[in-house]
Amino acid sequence: MDISNKIEHRFKDSDSNLYASHEKVHTREVKGVFQNLRKIMMIFLLGLYYGLAWLNWDGHQAVLFDLPERQFHIFFLTFWPQDFFFLAWLLIMAALSLFFFTALAGRLWCGYACPQTVWTEIFVWMERLVEGDRNAQKKLAAMPWNREKITKCITKQTMWIVFGLWTGFTLVGYFTPIRELGSATLESFSGTYALGPWETFWIVFYGFATYGNSGFLREQVCLYMCPYARFQSAMFDKDTLIISYDGERGEPRAKGKKRKQTDVQVGDCVDCTMCVQVCPTGIDIREGLQYECIGCAACIDVCDQVMDKVGMPKGLIKYTTEHASEHGETHILRPRIIVYGVLLSLLFVAFVYAIFNRSPLAVDIIRDRSTLYRVVDAEHIENVYNFKVMNKSKESLFYQFALPEETSATILASQDRAIRPGEVGNVPVSVILPAADLSGAINTIEFVITTEIDGESFQVNEHSRFFAPR
Ligand code: SF4
Ligand code: SF4
Repeated sequence: MDISNKIEHRFKDSDSNLYASHEKVHTREVKGVFQNLRKIMMIFLLGLYYGLAWLNWDGHQAVLFDLPERQFHIFFLTFWPQDFFFLAWLLIMAALSLFFFTALAGRLWCGYACPQTVWTEIFVWMERLVEGDRNAQKKLAAMPWNREKITKCITKQTMWIVFGLWTGFTLVGYFTPIRELGSATLESFSGTYALGPWETFWIVFYGFATYGNSGFLREQVCLYMCPYARFQSAMFDKDTLIISYDGERGEPRAKGKKRKQTDVQVGDCVDCTMCVQVCPTGIDIREGLQYECIGCAACIDVCDQVMDKVGMPKGLIKYTTEHASEHGETHILRPRIIVYGVLLSLLFVAFVYAIFNRSPLAVDIIRDRSTLYRVVDAEHIENVYNFKVMNKSKESLFYQFALPEETSATILASQDRAIRPGEVGNVPVSVILPAADLSGAINTIEFVITTEIDGESFQVNEHSRFFAPR
């Protein structure tokens, strides 16, 4: 059975248990190479999320999605609603990256960078700080409600709620300048409620979502809510990196006295169940590849420690591929990796080029609908347009409105003008065309709009209709 079929098969098994009551997974703490890597990633990503909002750049918040001003600052770049296709482009690249990295390295995203995993880690860490390790937590859960249990419960819940609200506050701080938001929050604590209703709603809503997903639901988000867990099997093949138990080496597993019997042949697995105890989704990796596995590598780290202790070589559970487990050859470069890789690289290069070569002007031409045309005299027809010109740069720019040189049309009066940064200028433009040059009642006319930044010229050519009597 190939790798994607095995995962599908596991889905069917697990779907029959959907209505079973949920048992909380208490995990044992584990240290090791991969857990250190995960910690480094966690510190980096959380630092980025909570720290970036406080960073200033060129006199403004480095990352600020200013909805009222309709400006989106990301360091030295400012985007406008007209640039929204960049967001769609970014999402396409994100989806393609997910395909590429999943086909190459399995659930690397889930184990090391997914916000659900990262925030759950910090909530679990707080829980351990208050309630102790796995055994202490299980003991506490089984205990009747007494002073110790109530105190620990209140302490843990308070830490979770405060952390959740701080997360919500930071998120809102990417939409409302975070320093102003901080002052308003402090002012609210001193008696005068200074936060706006939407700010309050989103802080509480996102704080609650973080608390619920990372404190309570945890692995259930991965098992039942995340669509990625469901479709990742389609991206797996026999050369994808997976975490796997070496059954050939480990079986038959045996522990204690049985291992000392000389007439019984035993494998390297000492059946200590440590790999099950550290698993955040509560599975037994020795049962084979399972869709519940989020690729956290906790079982690799703990099993390596066990192997070290019993004097056997590490790697009973390890990162491998299905081909390698079957003593075959792993192919890193394969058609789907090449196709995803090439597509992603092309999109990325084009994206960077498009971002740095954005035009500082966006133009919409709206025709005066009340009067289609005006007969100036027996030989000339006039049409009136309203130009909506947006200055997408960070400085005031001077815009010139012209017609191509070869046309016989003329603009009645020059409407060239300066427009402030971020402003949409309404520019009425009146054009006169000799009736003899018209080919019918509806004609096409071209406009040339130009501006200059630091000596570099930018031009937009826009077309519209020119109406004349039938
Ligand atoms: S941690 Fe290693 S030795 Fe212990 S049960 Fe798991 S696979 Fe076997
Ligand atoms: S099986 Fe291992 S790698 Fe997979 S989720 Fe459990 S501990 Fe993490």
